[in-house]
Amino acid sequence: MQKGKINITTENIFPIIKKFLYSDHEIFLREIISNAVDATQKLKTFQSTGDFKGEIKDETIRIKLDAKKKTITVSDHGIGMTAEEVEKFINQIAFSSAEEFLEKYKDKANAIIGHFGMGFYSSFMVSKKVEIHTKSYKPGSKAVLWSCDGSPEFELGEKAKKDVGTDIILHIDTESKEFLEESRISELLKKYSRYLPIPVAFGKEKEWKDGKEVETKKDNIINITHPAWTRKPADLKDEDYKEFYRDMYPMQEEPLFWIHLNVDYPFKLTGILYFPKIKNQVEVQRNKIQLFSNQVYVTDSVEGIVPEFLTLLHGVIDSPDIPLNVSRSYLQSDGNVKKISGHINKKVADRLNEIFKKDRSGFENKWDDLKLFIVYGLISDEKFYDRASKFALLKNTDDKYFTFEEYEKLIKENQTDKNKTLVYLYANNKDDQHSYIEAAKAKGYDVLLMDGQLDTHFLSQLEQKLTGSRFVRVDADVPDKLIQKEDTKGSSLTGDQQNILSGVFMGPLVNKEGFNVVFEDLSETENPLIITQSEFTRRMKDMSAMGGGMDFYGTLPDSYNLVVNSNHPLIGKVLEDCGKKMEKEMKSLNEKVESLKEHKTELEKAKEAKKEEEIKQEDKDKLEDINKKIGEIEDKKNKKLEKAGKENSLVCQLIDLALLSNNMLKGENLSKFVKRSIDLI
Ligand code: ADP
Repeated sequence: MQKGKINITTENIFPIIKKFLYSDHEIFLREIISNAVDATQKLKTFQSTGDFKGEIKDETIRIKLDAKKKTITVSDHGIGMTAEEVEKFINQIAFSSAEEFLEKYKDKANAIIGHFGMGFYSSFMVSKKVEIHTKSYKPGSKAVLWSCDGSPEFELGEKAKKDVGTDIILHIDTESKEFLEESRISELLKKYSRYLPIPVAFGKEKEWKDGKEVETKKDNIINITHPAWTRKPADLKDEDYKEFYRDMYPMQEEPLFWIHLNVDYPFKLTGILYFPKIKNQVEVQRNKIQLFSNQVYVTDSVEGIVPEFLTLLHGVIDSPDIPLNVSRSYLQSDGNVKKISGHINKKVADRLNEIFKKDRSGFENKWDDLKLFIVYGLISDEKFYDRASKFALLKNTDDKYFTFEEYEKLIKENQTDKNKTLVYLYANNKDDQHSYIEAAKAKGYDVLLMDGQLDTHFLSQLEQKLTGSRFVRVDADVPDKLIQKEDTKGSSLTGDQQNILSGVFMGPLVNKEGFNVVFEDLSETENPLIITQSEFTRRMKDMSAMGGGMDFYGTLPDSYNLVVNSNHPLIGKVLEDCGKKMEKEMKSLNEKVESLKEHKTELEKAKEAKKEEEIKQEDKDKLEDINKKIGEIEDKKNKKLEKAGKENSLVCQLIDLALLSNNMLKGENLSKFVKRSIDLI
């Protein structure tokens, strides 16, 4: 037995290793198994080059758990190590790299992706003692036993070992006893070793015999050695891609389609990205793509490597060229990584374009599921916009699909307004905005359906990209004015008539402050009352609700226009009903106001002629008094008009119908409406 001291500068590195990356202790298993995979692959290479003349009888890596002895053993039949190699690789190199690693990342453990680089020494995070039994493939090598109990001292000795290869025996410490549970190890193997290129066995397969679960002789292989992404696309059928998807995401529905990435130069990258089917948009999750390095699982957070909008996809990326033991900020500035991200961006766009070109109707069928990803890309990534604007689709309220270019052609003639602006009309709810959609269509307009989560942002972006265009929701104005082709004249009603109508129509409205009454001469076939909501404020409110940073708009109350169609016969009837009834009263009130106003003008004139200090307090009080009186009479007038409106079933009915076609009539008011309608019948 030879004793030695591990060459270190830090007096005792082990306490640091144990504490370090506390939450990530579990990676020890990945590190040890990766070493076993490397050693096995090396031996296979040596065999193919003729450097190793023997035979590899069994390449399976075996993991054994002994809860009684409190050990985990990882055995391989790889190249093994000679005593000199153990001295060099384990005592010197491995140790110093572990030390270097710790020095570098002591303070920013969380910034490290995958925590690669700890290697062999990460086993001390969970062990009080580690043994290596190894025998090199080199002819005439003696088996070597290395053992270390966590202090810088180690022992090196010989021990009989028949086969070439290495057994690593971890004596698990008391704080880490979770790793002596079979289920915990199974879970780790599934996470880190599922797609390793060399078979990995965890114990034996079990079967039920006489009501008991017993072990068979067969190895319990836990991995798939040739996962789909490592194979040539030409060798794979659709079913293979789907099967692999099911293996990665057992609970998910079948994917829409996939993109097989396969790059050799200027970096190595393979992978498969899947477009998942999304039942409802709320359930979309990020971080479903897994990053591998030569089939060893690294992480499931791929920000920086995959363009932001593609983090919604599923699948795998495998690249030995992505630096794994560096911080995230470094990663984002790394030239290779940038190239990888750019490449993936292009590949995805190319593939979508290909599907679009080859099978337009298939693409249209998938569009509703695809839309979220593509729109997210369009609004967040300029490069993607440039590529995707050729195949991204707009859907109208008749479920027809158009490219941007096709749609522009469709509406160009009929939807250009007097300022030469092309007006894109849209709805975001086919049911709620039904009557507005129909009214726009009756004018020969086409109406888009913009009902996606990101559509408010999307149409703002389109307004910027498609110069000379404007998006207007169908209920933003009366149909005639949605796309104004010539200047319109004002209303033909007199001021008095407008006053009366404003007053009575306010009557039945519950939220009076939210409404502003305006008058338009529309055709007789248009509805008598129409509720509209200005595009600008509504959209700003929508944006702020989605966290677009426009908080000011978020605090504004909803505000609507109540458009009165002066030409409609029913409006004439209301005017007649209420106007006549109120005529006398209104006349006398109006006369009072008029005479007060005359008086007021006189006083104001007199005041103007004098300097401030010459004005008598008496006159000041008088003016104030007149203003107050005018206000009171106006108030009284409005109250009377509102009361008259509220009591007039035609007015109530018209208001309710307008609210109803805007989906704003609810609860008690809806019930009242139903009852009144029945009474009217
Ligand atoms: P890394 O794997 O990153 O080189 P490690 O600390 O994990 O660092 O391992 C150090 C070295 O020890 C390896 O490079 C390898 O030469 C040797 N080694 C570790 N495990 C084995 C093994 N199972 N079989 C053969 N050699 C091994």
